[in-house]
Amino acid sequence: MSAETFSERLPQNVPGKFYVTEQCLDCDLCREIAPSVFRRDGEMGVSYIYRQPGTEEELAATIEAMDGCPCEAISSDGDEFDWSVLRDAVLPAWLRGEASKPPCEYCAAREVVKRPWWRFW
Ligand code: SF4
Repeated sequence: MSAETFSERLPQNVPGKFYVTEQCLDCDLCREIAPSVFRRDGEMGVSYIYRQPGTEEELAATIEAMDGCPCEAISSDGDEFDWSVLRDAVLPAWLRGEASKPPCEYCAAREVVKRPWWRFW
């Protein structure tokens, strides 16, 4: 990933290695795989890192969630950047209420339909 991806991180994430970006489409996969790491922001309709993985099991589950995320919305380079920058400065327009939430670029390019993760047929 890149600094550009880091700048798209959701403000709800706790600082650390893993973070979720605005590409999240709220499919629930990560929360099912690693419920102690991911939480849902119901108001925004996104997942975020509630707690950085602290055990080998949580780390493995988080990596599994990152690999399985259909929108590639989970990144693992958060320890390479400065989290002290004001989060408001990186809020995308849709999170500031100035635009509607954009569609997931990955899914839009592949015409993936939003549905629960257990229904891929
Ligand atoms: S798996 Fe990806 S798209 Fe689905 S809720 Fe988690 S971060 Fe969002």
